[in-house]
Amino acid sequence: MKIEEKSSIRCGTHGTRTPAIVCCHMTQAKDLVVGFVENSSDPDDLQAWCAACEQLYLEEGDKTERFKAFNDFKVVCDFCYASLKERHSDTV
Ligand SMILES: [Zn+2]
Ligand SMILES: [Zn+2]
Repeated sequence: MKIEEKSSIRCGTHGTRTPAIVCCHMTQAKDLVVGFVENSSDPDDLQAWCAACEQLYLEEGDKTERFKAFNDFKVVCDFCYASLKERHSDTV
């Protein structure tokens, strides 16, 4: 998946929006709360992953190939990002 700078994303639910990055676990977890760890302090650069990804990231110490394979990030729109945040923030 290619991400272009200043690009927009066409979300099936929300239309043309700003893209945001989450890990595959958040989008795949339907009923589970997997945690929500935001890893960018820049409000224009929305990126987050779940608690398991955070754990592996800390173990690996970097965004290694192993980490990237596990994380398998997905691009969502900023509205979807906000709702994932709400849904997965509970336990952490
Ligand atoms: Zn994850
Ligand atoms: Zn959306």
